[in-house]
Amino acid sequence: MSSDQPKKEISAIKGTHDILPEEARLWQLAEARAREIFELYGYRELRAPVIEPTELFEKGTGASSDIVTKEMYTFVDKGGRSVTLRPEYTPSVVRAIIEHRLDLQSQPLRYYYMGPMFRYDRPQKGRYRQFHQIDIEVFGEKDPAVDAEIVEMAHRLLARLGVEDVLTLVNSVGCKKCRPAYGQELRQAALAARDKLCPDCQRKAEVNPLRIFDCKNEVCRQVASGFPLIIDFLCAECRDHFHKFREYLDLYGIEYRVEPTLVRGLDYYTKTAFEIVAEHLGAQNAICGGGRYDDMVREFGGPDLCGIGFAMGLERLLSVARIQVPKDSFVYFAYLGDQAKKESLRLARVLRSEGIECLVEFRDRGMKAHFSRANKLGADWVLIIGEDELKKGKYQLKDMVNSRQFEGSALELAGIIKGKKILEIG
Ligand SMILES: [Zn+2]
Ligand SMILES: [Zn+2]
Repeated sequence: MSSDQPKKEISAIKGTHDILPEEARLWQLAEARAREIFELYGYRELRAPVIEPTELFEKGTGASSDIVTKEMYTFVDKGGRSVTLRPEYTPSVVRAIIEHRLDLQSQPLRYYYMGPMFRYDRPQKGRYRQFHQIDIEVFGEKDPAVDAEIVEMAHRLLARLGVEDVLTLVNSVGCKKCRPAYGQELRQAALAARDKLCPDCQRKAEVNPLRIFDCKNEVCRQVASGFPLIIDFLCAECRDHFHKFREYLDLYGIEYRVEPTLVRGLDYYTKTAFEIVAEHLGAQNAICGGGRYDDMVREFGGPDLCGIGFAMGLERLLSVARIQVPKDSFVYFAYLGDQAKKESLRLARVLRSEGIECLVEFRDRGMKAHFSRANKLGADWVLIIGEDELKKGKYQLKDMVNSRQFEGSALELAGIIKGKKILEIG
């Protein structure tokens, strides 16, 4: 390559995005609140790799689902293995449970996780190829009380994030016993109406008619509204589970609507399926989706361990969250001359040990320039170190918010700064 060719600017890969510091503050806050709430319910973090063997998702997500057929970020690595950047989190947890025999621990197992997921989808506004999810899972608990508990936990998190006007949709998608009979009826109805469906749904009519309910095409929705519903086919066990789940939701005072066409995008769900939508975003924009997957661990070759969980997309969640990031509070050092610079470095060490954020900049500035810089950065405090201060070993501290001034030793001033911090928080 010739060196005098203009350098081409490298930009982020299509469908990915940077989260710059100001925005990252919001992410940190949302993640911290999620962590705090999940831990209140006994959940613990389980961090699995971003990259997994491709067959994990082919097995776990269901070979007929769109995620596998269209959207996986799959490539062959240098060792000739097919690997995939995870499109969802649950299969990784299930793999980890089996691999580490976590099922031998006392149950239920409660895990949470937050991090990036990848889908090779057509990028569009608000949809990314690298997107981020908050995810929780419970394994080894059959009781429908846990189904209601995770819905209640999701509500608590949404409330903490200031997400208002949410609508909770619930359904039961049945189990291995009752779904096949329903599937047959549904397939018959879908095949009979085949000509009216979109090409994608015509294919689904053969492979997996349940997923026609997910289609966003108006005509398909119209046609599907006449299809038989799973709720009318539930076996006694599933009916009882759904009934009790709803009783516990009532106990928690959670308002919900039974949505008989809610089947969720993934094939592995059994019994409970639910979504929480922000009403002003419309029904297509769930901010939380979850359900039960009682057969999944066994289908992976693991023990007979039932599971349930939910996922929230962080990008969408933050677009509806109303949270205020507290203003950064820090001390700016305004010093004059080399001696005072060295004293600033020493003092900053002392103050940081006291948990106080300090900003010492190394450009030569006059006192006026220091103050205009401190103002521009939004410093709460300016610590002034000139010749007089050096001689006395006492420093001037200016409170930029309330225009007050103090004089004292490093530790005395640390006390003043921290005192104000406490007052502000209270
Ligand atoms: Zn059933
Ligand atoms: Zn369709």
